[in-house]
Amino acid sequence: MALAFDEYGRPFIIIKEQGQKSRIRGLEAQKTNINAGIAVSRILRSSLGPKGMDKMLQSPDGELTITNDGATILEQMDVDNQIAKLMVELSRSQDYEIGDGTTGVVVLAGALLEQAEKLLERGIHPIRVAEGYETASGVAVNHLEHISQKYDFSASEIESLVQTCMTTLSSKIVNRCKRMLAEIAVNAVLAVADLERKDVNLDLIKVEGKVGGKLEDTELIKGIIIDKDMSHPQMPKWIDDAKIAILTCPFEPPKPKTKHKVDIDTVEKFQTLRDQEQKYFDDMVQQCKDVGATLVICQWGFDDEANHLLMHRNLPAVRWVGGVELELIAIATGGRIVPRFQELTTEKLGKAGIVREKSFGTTKERMLYIEKCANSKAVTIFIRGGNKMVIEETKRSIHDALCVARNLIRNNSIVYGGGSAEIACAIAVESAADKHPGVEQYAIRSFAEALESIPMALAENSGLPSIETVTAVKSQQIKENNPFYGIDCNDVGTNDMQKQNVFETLIGKQQQMLLATQVVKMILKIDDVISPSDF
Ligand code: ADP
Repeated sequence: MALAFDEYGRPFIIIKEQGQKSRIRGLEAQKTNINAGIAVSRILRSSLGPKGMDKMLQSPDGELTITNDGATILEQMDVDNQIAKLMVELSRSQDYEIGDGTTGVVVLAGALLEQAEKLLERGIHPIRVAEGYETASGVAVNHLEHISQKYDFSASEIESLVQTCMTTLSSKIVNRCKRMLAEIAVNAVLAVADLERKDVNLDLIKVEGKVGGKLEDTELIKGIIIDKDMSHPQMPKWIDDAKIAILTCPFEPPKPKTKHKVDIDTVEKFQTLRDQEQKYFDDMVQQCKDVGATLVICQWGFDDEANHLLMHRNLPAVRWVGGVELELIAIATGGRIVPRFQELTTEKLGKAGIVREKSFGTTKERMLYIEKCANSKAVTIFIRGGNKMVIEETKRSIHDALCVARNLIRNNSIVYGGGSAEIACAIAVESAADKHPGVEQYAIRSFAEALESIPMALAENSGLPSIETVTAVKSQQIKENNPFYGIDCNDVGTNDMQKQNVFETLIGKQQQMLLATQVVKMILKIDDVISPSDF
């Protein structure tokens, strides 16, 4: 700020542009950033594990979400701080790459930041901390590979896949039906998987939900279902061996595109126009019948008169079907989407063994099932549940389970869960620290301590005395040289995770450690934060 005088001698103050920016530098910048990151991870900590709590989030327009999924919680939280946004991104990357472990990755990053703060206070340079973390994460990731096990499965022997998906589902709200949902997810993935190429296209699995019924009514349909019904109530509700015309062009007489004026001054003229329109539409229906179509699925609508005519001519039709659904129907039935009516030919029709309409409860809600499709690769998971929130949360949980099954098909290595893998890695990292002569050794040891925060959180959330439990498990692992001991969250009576069948995928766990380290290193290397200030 500077004091100046105008030509009449009146004083005024000049505020420099620079003054409107706030700036934090050096150690203070690191500490502020670390605290922001820790704050975000503390929110998720209580959601980790099978006994983790759920969060209720309200969006600005009042919609409620109840969830246990880390990525969803952070996504909906609408954080303002830039470093907090990095943590949101972290969870999102885990979701994008692996699909599961989104809470764990943020909790681990938070623990690494907490340890880093202590190291900085002891006067260790942030770069030394970052380098130590990098070395330690390398050791941990290698050790994971070392303790991992190959799990064999085939299309007929799916138990191991189901068990792994169950571990994912056990921490979700839907864990009541985890066995059933895990089986559905595994069967869905196997239906679309290419086991030889070890590839799964999850786009071929459609997850659809409808309020009503029970969670137990959720089913896997080898085909497609769409939330639509036949355009006329008197059209057949069941079509065997359907030949489907899939249209993205209007199924009605063409409308004049620019402004035209048609003078109709006599009844006869009106009649002629009407007849002509009707004939045009009649021809369209005939053309469909000529190519052999027994069902028409349109992206657009048609008016009531056309609807009536379709019913009369015995050509069932479905209108207003979305583009994504049309694409799926085309893939599943081996048909082609027809963008111009003139292009409709017999070869372009999709084929399905059964197309049926099913109604639900006492309501007028109906859905269309397209089953026994020519190319049966596309499948649908149809979720039922008491309210919209349950259905949305089930969709998210199923997504996690599908991702886990896909990851296992890509790479069938697993590690054991319940914090056992983290404790085993912590032991390996600690012994690696002893061999390091430099200052990094402190950072490496801190990394090991941060790894233990996962079993700590699991124990804490299950109501167990955390420090006692984790130290007991750790010494058991060392004494028996067995990396399978973890936290017995569900009070089963054994903490051998191999016996409890609590598995996680190797690539998922490795990704968690790599991503968390990466983000923490990034935060530690920021020593200057310049941002527009509030005034
Ligand atoms: P994320 O979103 O990271 O997957 P979850 O809330 O699903 O977080 O919790 C996953 C953690 O819970 C993993 O560390 C997993 O090993 C652990 N876990 C899951 N089921 C059990 C169980 N039955 N017993 C002990 N730990 C479990």
